[in-house]
Amino acid sequence: MDQLAPALETGLRGLADAGRFRQRQTVEARSAATTRARVDGAELLAFCSNDYLGLADHPRVVEAFVAAAREWGVGSGASHLVSGHCREHHALEEELAAFTRRERALLFSTGYMANLAVVTTLLGRGDRVHMDRLDHASLLDAGLASGARFSRYPHCDVAALAARLERAGGGRTMVVTDGVFSMDGDIAPLASLAALCRSHEATLFVDDAHGLGVLGASGGGSVEAAGLEPGDVPILVGTLGKALGTSGAFVAGSQPLVETLLQRARSYIYTTAPPPAVAAATRAALRLVQEETWRRERVLAHVERFRRGAAGLGLALLESQTPIQPVVLGSEAAALDASEALRSRGLWVPAIRPPTVPAGSARLRITLSAAHEDSDVDRLLEALATLPAPRHAGGTQ
Ligand code: PMP
Repeated sequence: MDQLAPALETGLRGLADAGRFRQRQTVEARSAATTRARVDGAELLAFCSNDYLGLADHPRVVEAFVAAAREWGVGSGASHLVSGHCREHHALEEELAAFTRRERALLFSTGYMANLAVVTTLLGRGDRVHMDRLDHASLLDAGLASGARFSRYPHCDVAALAARLERAGGGRTMVVTDGVFSMDGDIAPLASLAALCRSHEATLFVDDAHGLGVLGASGGGSVEAAGLEPGDVPILVGTLGKALGTSGAFVAGSQPLVETLLQRARSYIYTTAPPPAVAAATRAALRLVQEETWRRERVLAHVERFRRGAAGLGLALLESQTPIQPVVLGSEAAALDASEALRSRGLWVPAIRPPTVPAGSARLRITLSAAHEDSDVDRLLEALATLPAPRHAGGTQ
């Protein structure tokens, strides 16, 4: 008899009782990059994708994808080290290295795998890794899997981290932070972290999934925005499924770093290379990030417009100057109710609940895109104004 299924049913009921049961929404159609979606037959104005620059459906990105699929077929056919590494992948790596001003870059199929590769390849027993308490789940998983001594410092608390670094013993020490925190939208204190790492001989690793393409004068991300040089952040991860509008990720850094990952990282070696057409589409997107600077200006103007309007409504926002604008509501039920109320007005703003965010800080996670119109932001503000209390209770983190 199957003993597993009944036990799993009990677990699932527990999730539902706690308000943490998650359901996928099937998108039936999409337009205006990812800002318009049809779900269950309803046309929704969406504030829930990470396509910050609106590049996901850019004609040049789509064209590059289609042309490469015609030339190469769809699948890469093998892992990079066997026979799957195609000219498009290679050119993209060189372009990403130049864009981030690093010696080399290495492509991965996902950001999750890139993060796993960095931490588990470079650290092991006898080493130490310090992570911000709000670092992305993939970094936490990587830290635990590495076998290194693992500590999580309070969010953005440089003094607390300094105290921990004082206690460092032998072995390697790595400090790992999101550049832009994925659920709060705030920016890590990178200049202070870089100085601290330098003085304590620790290696700084920044996962800039949400900063790359959006922050910095040339879209170089949170490292550029902080005025840091590549040498201040020896390990940089960027993801391609967010501002670049495609899929995948890369690690950028020195030649020995990249060669070590290529030789040793299990999540690089033992997996099929991403489709060459995705690399071709990403090359087109990377050119657009550099040419169409108005996209960055536009999404940041939306951020300003949203924050001004939200302040006028008395909404408590977090300290975020990025396209991630959370409204913290507290309980799971409050976040779900607010999301549902917005949905009934034709807006798609997801409720984010624990364990993605700490208990008691369930929230609406609003994300803005260059593909939004000013009037879209105004419509969102009008809808937020109709939410019942406790809409003033946010910002408690
Ligand atoms: N790092 C951060 C900060 C992220 O937010 C995410 C994705 N949400 C990832 C890594 C993982 O990237 P991917 O989706 O490409 O696996």
